Formats: sequence, structure tokens, C-alpha cells
Amino acid sequence: MMIARQLEEIRQRIDSAVALAGREPGSVRLMAVSKTFPVEDVLEAYAAGQRLFGENRVQEAQAKIPGAPADIAWHLIGPLQRNKVRKALQAGFSGIDAVDSFPLVEAISRIAGELGVTPEILLEVHIGGEESKHGFTPEELREGLGAILELPSIRVRGLMTIPPPVETPEAARPYFAQLRELRDALEGIHGVRLPELSMGMSHDFEAAIAEGSTCVRVGTAIFGRR
Ligand SMILES: *Cc1c(COP(=O)(O)O)cnc(C)c1O
Repeated sequence: MMIARQLEEIRQRIDSAVALAGREPGSVRLMAVSKTFPVEDVLEAYAAGQRLFGENRVQEAQAKIPGAPADIAWHLIGPLQRNKVRKALQAGFSGIDAVDSFPLVEAISRIAGELGVTPEILLEVHIGGEESKHGFTPEELREGLGAILELPSIRVRGLMTIPPPVETPEAARPYFAQLRELRDALEGIHGVRLPELSMGMSHDFEAAIAEGSTCVRVGTAIFGRR
């Protein structure tokens, strides 16, 4: 019951943030981040209409996904080691949302081809701040996105980021804005559409929506403290 109520509240806050930003209703998807929570909690969210879920560990997902309804879309939002790509794709992830290096995206393309699947890919960008070790630099994508777009068996849908830790959601806005501006620049340079911007978590999703997020990844505010 509590999960359904929290989900409803988050959906309302998303709708308000979308309206406040003057954006189209329905232009932001809610991903429920169920990492560390049992499949019973996933089922409760599912019963309340939730269909998009995020997990950050392959092994945990391998145990959880088989016990959940088949029409759930599972995305991997945590770092992925190259030697776990096959396991991740076999576990049933349809999206890999934190692709952070050229060798990784090449491995995903090759193994997806072998398995006959076409996962959606988001490229993780390392925006401002030495704190975060993961992700492409903007410069790497300006130069290297063309080569990624030529890889078979993947669909590059957009970008994702986790901003460096800051005091307030408002202080994260410049980082969210940088991701959007980078997306716009990459679309121009490479002549491609990158519609998806995955940014914003429990504490800052409204700020991310104000800067163009199309997918917010919310865990704590739906399922509770981990
Ligand atoms: C855990 C996690 C989230 C959700 O964080 P909350 O603060 O619980 O909403 C979002 N994105 C990533 C990459 C995560 O690992």
C-alpha cells in the first residue's frame, strides 16, 4: 500500500514539474529503482501500474527478474564490467543505461549480435567534477560518437548522468543543463537523434525535469531507505 501511495505522489510531482517547465504532459518517464528491494516490492509497484524498473547489479537482477511479470522493462543503471555483458543481456535487461566506455559499448554490440537481441543504450557522461569516475567525457563523445553509432545490434537512445554531490537540487541544475546542451551539440555534429536524457533521482528529479530530463530514476522516494 505504501509503495502505491508513494508512486502516486511521485507521479504527481513529476506532472507538476513538467507543467511548471512548460513541457508536454507525459514527456518524462518514471523509472522505479528497485535495487536492494525484494521482488514483492516490485510486484506492489507493478500492481500500481509501474512497468519500467532499474537495477544496478547483474547478479541481483538475475535472481529478481524471473519472478516478475514479463511485461516489465528492466534497465541496468549501474556500472557494467565487460565480462558480465553476456549475463546482463541473458538476464533480461532490455536497456543498458550506464555505458561508460568504448570497449564496453563494443562488447555489448558484439554479444548482443551473438544473442540476437538489440538492447537500448544510454551513454553515461562524466559531467564536471573529479568525484565521479564513470562515464565518457563530453570531448570523447564529440569525437567518438560516430564510431559508436556504426556499431550493430544496439540502439543508442541518448545520454545519462549522475551529477557530482552538491548541497541542494538547485545546485545540480547546471550539470543537468550541461547534459542537455551536450546532447543538442552531439545531435548537430553527428546528425542523429538522441531523445533520451536520463537524469534526476529522488532528491533532485524536479530540477532535472526543469532542464529537460526524459527519464527520472527514483528509488528511495518510492521504496524507502536502503
Ligand atoms: C540507486 C540509483 C538511483 C536511485 O537513487 P535514489 O536516490 O534512491 O532515488 C538512481 N540512479 C542510479 C544510477 C542509482 O544507482
